[in-house]
Amino acid sequence: MPEPRPALAIDLGGTKILAALVRPDGRLAAEEYELTDAWEGKDAVVARICNIARRTLNAAGLEPGELAGAAIAAAGIIDTNLGLVTVSPHLPGWSDVPLGEILHERLNIPAWLVNDASAAALGEQRFGAGKGMKNLLYITVSTGIGGGIILDGQLYEGTNGAAGEFGHMTVDPAGPRCPCGNIGCWEVMVSGSAIAAEAARRLGSGESSLLQSMIRGKPESVNAQMVGEAADRGDGLAREIIARAAEYLGIGLVNLVNIFNPQMIVIGGGVSNLGEMILQPARQLVWERAFKLPGQTVRIVKAGLGQASGVLGAAALVFRKTGEDLA
Ligand SMILES: [Zn+2]
Repeated sequence: MPEPRPALAIDLGGTKILAALVRPDGRLAAEEYELTDAWEGKDAVVARICNIARRTLNAAGLEPGELAGAAIAAAGIIDTNLGLVTVSPHLPGWSDVPLGEILHERLNIPAWLVNDASAAALGEQRFGAGKGMKNLLYITVSTGIGGGIILDGQLYEGTNGAAGEFGHMTVDPAGPRCPCGNIGCWEVMVSGSAIAAEAARRLGSGESSLLQSMIRGKPESVNAQMVGEAADRGDGLAREIIARAAEYLGIGLVNLVNIFNPQMIVIGGGVSNLGEMILQPARQLVWERAFKLPGQTVRIVKAGLGQASGVLGAAALVFRKTGEDLA
């Protein structure tokens, strides 16, 4: 039997571009990164993507023909039928960019494009916390909220590839306006930015908290990690803020559990690093409020892949498309 071929996987983020050669068993053979510097515009970023792709191949001593294929995971609305980045929050000025085709032409390898949270869902299902799960939802809770859906073993991307935007379901009609235009989105109630904004508002009104000494008079400098640390040390205000975020997290999870009846929900992103402090009350709320059967069936767990979820997920997509077996 021929040796299973590796995939070239690229994670195009707002801050940096990560590339890696990933073997079908999940081992990383070469890793390279560059700053995205998205402000330089589309052509410069595309050139950097091709550059880092070539460098990764060289570092591993491989020719394009020795790969199963390549995939790029990117934030934003990806038209997977046409292989276009239609719009991305991290890439100002990008509109309908055929990134998959560009990579295919310049490197001469089959290349696919996938939403970063969809990629992470595939990565967790093949290599991470959700190994072997047929019905899995992945949710990344960081500055925003993204989602990926695996149903009956298949990635569900919707009609255009835009499915899984869990972060933009309304969980509070009286909540703040979301940058997407909707009101009270899950993302503006639970994300790292939402936790920081709530903390800044309450610190700004002079409430007493350990956080006051951490922010040195600048409420806007508070972040979710600081709130987590203060809560760990028993701070009342920080605990209230985490409890509120956990409640909204749970409200969204109840909706998803009732709609999808998944086996597992994997939660990644920076806010998941708050760990059981936020996950356990959210699980409890699912237990209390979701329909009994799906609520008791679902396992809600922290992601297993961390920073590598984008490249491992992009690689998992390539292996699905080309049928490379697990080594
Ligand atoms: Zn929104």
